[in-house]
Amino acid sequence: MPDYQPKPSVSLIRCKSYDRGLVEASVRRAVALLGGADRFVRPGDRVLLKPNMLSGKAPNKAVTTHPEVVRAVVRLVKEAGGIPSIGDSNALGSFAKVSEVTGMARVARDEGAELVELSEAVDVHGKGKFKHFELSKAAMEADVVINLPKAKTHGQMLLTLAVKNLFGCIPGRRKAQWHFKAGVDREAFATMLVELSGLVRPCLSIIDAVVGMEGNGPGSGTPREVGLIGASADPHALDMVMASVLGVTADRLPTLKAARGLGLIPRSISEIELAGDFGNPAQAAVRGFRLPSESSLEWSIPEPVRRLLKESLTTKPRIHRKSCKFCLMCQTACPVGAITEGRDGMSIDYRQCIRCFCCQEVCPVGAIDIAEGWLLRYLG
Ligand code: SF4
Ligand code: SF4
Repeated sequence: MPDYQPKPSVSLIRCKSYDRGLVEASVRRAVALLGGADRFVRPGDRVLLKPNMLSGKAPNKAVTTHPEVVRAVVRLVKEAGGIPSIGDSNALGSFAKVSEVTGMARVARDEGAELVELSEAVDVHGKGKFKHFELSKAAMEADVVINLPKAKTHGQMLLTLAVKNLFGCIPGRRKAQWHFKAGVDREAFATMLVELSGLVRPCLSIIDAVVGMEGNGPGSGTPREVGLIGASADPHALDMVMASVLGVTADRLPTLKAARGLGLIPRSISEIELAGDFGNPAQAAVRGFRLPSESSLEWSIPEPVRRLLKESLTTKPRIHRKSCKFCLMCQTACPVGAITEGRDGMSIDYRQCIRCFCCQEVCPVGAIDIAEGWLLRYLG
């Protein structure tokens, strides 16, 4: 494993609500502690802000980055002389509608920022295990990308934080191809996310963890007050701190494990310089934060064993037919065609299913949750 060299800084600021003034003050402080907006944005820079705009859910559902966080960053960018735009590639549905419902369109109008759907792709040569990416042209051509993730649980990746948020820089349905390529191999998918993050190279990541999401994330979990804004120039360091706050160590989070394998994170969280309201992440810890699966056991099982005993050992999506509204969004989202509509409702062919949890991510009514394999239940 390559030696990890620099000492990264993360700022962690208390922020108890989405009151506009409070959010703006918290974001300003978080960025000031890292050297100020001028360190990241030069006059005339075209700056793409990349919030989480997974789907058209209102801000209080905690599915998407809160618009007040985005507003605060737009203002900082403009003060530094940058030209901000706000962009993402949502999982399903119209970008215009998602922008309205999530409050991003309002922020863009109020603050004079452009809204950009990350739909156009350019070929990018990968430098690691994955040699070819098709990435958003707007993200690759921006002078600067500022990453604005939401702190949430995630059925496949356990948590979605700074690194996972950049998956939105893969335009539209091309995301499904990556799920298909990685299959049930969560480690490969995590490595792809880390390599993707290295290609997009956000200059700054600011995470909205004022209200995060626990349980059945990323689309249908429960909002949970976390009360924090975090920021760092290093998305891996930010993820390491935020995961720790949520009770997840670096060796459990697939993206952090992959980053560690590539020498991108320190051996210990104590090597990260923490600025702001806390002396260490434990002081900001959220007690009893619920992860997607009831059992934590699966996350400690080696990947080859998981793949071998896929049926019994891995978690899988489960459709609750009584809650299902037959919108067919899960069927559209499934990269392997494992979901069919029958007389009794929607059903999943688990022999085909690669456990990407795209279906759970897009279900608008939370009718899909995560069930454990029988062996996992027995061992748990
Ligand atoms: S059924 Fe759901 S989890 Fe399985 S492959 Fe399809 S979208 Fe992914
Ligand atoms: S996305 Fe949800 S509501 Fe729509 S068909 Fe699938 S399970 Fe039913």
